[in-house]
Amino acid sequence: MTSSDDLSCQELIELVTDYIEGILSSEDRARFESHINSCSGCRAYLAQVRRTIEIVGTLEESDIPDDAREQLLRTFRAWKRNG
Ligand SMILES: [Zn+2]
Repeated sequence: MTSSDDLSCQELIELVTDYIEGILSSEDRARFESHINSCSGCRAYLAQVRRTIEIVGTLEESDIPDDAREQLLRTFRAWKRNG
């Protein structure tokens, strides 16, 4: 682990289902919410996953819209290129 505060967008995506299910540790949840508050891309992703859950009633990995995930991953790659 590097910083105790920073969660990358990639990490956030991996945690999003755990967050929605409420099974994150309080520490991880705090990091998650801190990232969500400062990252509009991840906020949009979380909203999309939540909407998907409302529609299908449950969440399987395959239910997450590929479009949303792909779009966000493209954004990450763009940031890496710029950084
Ligand atoms: Zn993010």
